Amino acid sequence: MFSLTANGSPILPADVDDSPMIVLENDEDAPQWRCTACGDYLTEMPDGWTDESGDRVCCAYDPTDPMETESVEGPHSPERVALSWANNAGVRADTEEDSFTVTISVGDPRGAFAFTVRRIPDGDHEHAGCLVLHSPHPEESAPHARLTELHPGTFLIG
Ligand SMILES: [Zn+2]
Repeated sequence: MFSLTANGSPILPADVDDSPMIVLENDEDAPQWRCTACGDYLTEMPDGWTDESGDRVCCAYDPTDPMETESVEGPHSPERVALSWANNAGVRADTEEDSFTVTISVGDPRGAFAFTVRRIPDGDHEHAGCLVLHSPHPEESAPHARLTELHPGTFLIG
């Protein structure tokens, strides 16, 4: 029914399952920080940021003071690696429930925020045949993470 693709290329045969799920997992050991100057991945130590060689001096240190010369040594400039905050993200097509669900885990990898669009089955129901959206909200009894509404449809996580 559906084919699984990555960047437009098939990754599994189309007939593998009627309810396929694809998950992008973030490597537990993936670096969390990198240097904006030299690009090396960084680790925070008690005495400062070190690169993959254990060096605290940045080979590409760029002094912000124009009076400093190129010979000035300086520290790495840490920035968070993009998407390092996520444990995983997934998409499931569920033919039994007639739904798609997108999940995104930002905390405990056993849970995730889930966003589902589902078609209400045909039959004697006020909304039969309509599509409904289920999304995380601050009043959930067991939330993946605490949500605080900033404005309708936008929440601060944590
Ligand atoms: Zn650096």
